[in-house]
Amino acid sequence: MTVEERRLDGNAIGGLLREIFTMEMTAAQTTCAGCGAINAVGRVVVYADAPGTVVRCPECESVLMRIVHGGGRYWVDLTGTRCLEFAEG
Ligand SMILES: [Zn+2]
Repeated sequence: MTVEERRLDGNAIGGLLREIFTMEMTAAQTTCAGCGAINAVGRVVVYADAPGTVVRCPECESVLMRIVHGGGRYWVDLTGTRCLEFAEG
């Protein structure tokens, strides 16, 4: 598969984020630490096998999040997300 074929939108990680956070996260807003763009999680660019899940900014392609799940643990790297904003449940 080409990189383009592996490219998904943020709705693809709704289930994964729901395992980690207690709330529905696809409507959450991410602020990119690279360019400052604010996007709903549903609009970000997801690569689901990169390895783990890599989430990129749709504006500047910077990595917003990396999530790896395996061996009964999660690793969540939010270095590229300056702010994650979401409504109360
Ligand atoms: Zn950006």
